[in-house]
Amino acid sequence: MKVRIKVIGFDADDTLWDNQPHFDAVIAEFTALLRPYCSETAAHEFIHRLQVENLPLYGFGAKSLTLSMTQAACRLSHYQIGAADIERIIRLGRKLLAMPVKLLDSAEDVVRRLKEKYTLILITKGDLLDQKRKLRESGLEKYFHHIEILCDKQVEDYRELFDRLRLQPEEFVMVGNSLKSDIIPVLELNAHAVYIPYPATWQHENVDNYDPNHQNFVQVDKLADLLPILR
Ligand SMILES: [Mg+2]
Repeated sequence: MKVRIKVIGFDADDTLWDNQPHFDAVIAEFTALLRPYCSETAAHEFIHRLQVENLPLYGFGAKSLTLSMTQAACRLSHYQIGAADIERIIRLGRKLLAMPVKLLDSAEDVVRRLKEKYTLILITKGDLLDQKRKLRESGLEKYFHHIEILCDKQVEDYRELFDRLRLQPEEFVMVGNSLKSDIIPVLELNAHAVYIPYPATWQHENVDNYDPNHQNFVQVDKLADLLPILR
């Protein structure tokens, strides 16, 4: 990693704390609820398609998933689903909004040590209120110089952020678990990226068109591996 790095951007969900397993568990409960109407595989495929279709209107996060699950339940049951089951679906979504925030391996130690040398920025996407709650409960807020909760993490979103915060791309490294959201757009802007894969990834975040040999790209196994690279 280049020695010129001054600012580190951290993704939050599934980089600093676990998130996707909670969503996967809720979706599994949802597809089980729809068993009287369709196979779990069909329900799974449908809810995924609907979530992606609804992204431009609803964005990411638990409330967006709740709306999509409700819509999917109506359609998949051919409008036979009862009000009690609709309420169960809403409760599934509410469960996500109350999920406990569990930090990944040595998250706090790593950010505390990196803060001694770098300016740290948290860059996450999703539901504003819920992301703020998770950050508060994580106890990590105090380590970040700036918190950015975006609607999406595409090239233009990062470009705007770099301009607004007057960040030089060559002095910035983004750390995250999503190639699509944390790595590829940042590399496109000539910044640096450290990819830390997480076992559960939402299929919408999967990509195969990236260059693992890119000169500004590094892949590591866990957060603690950042320390030897960036110290
Ligand atoms: Mg993430």
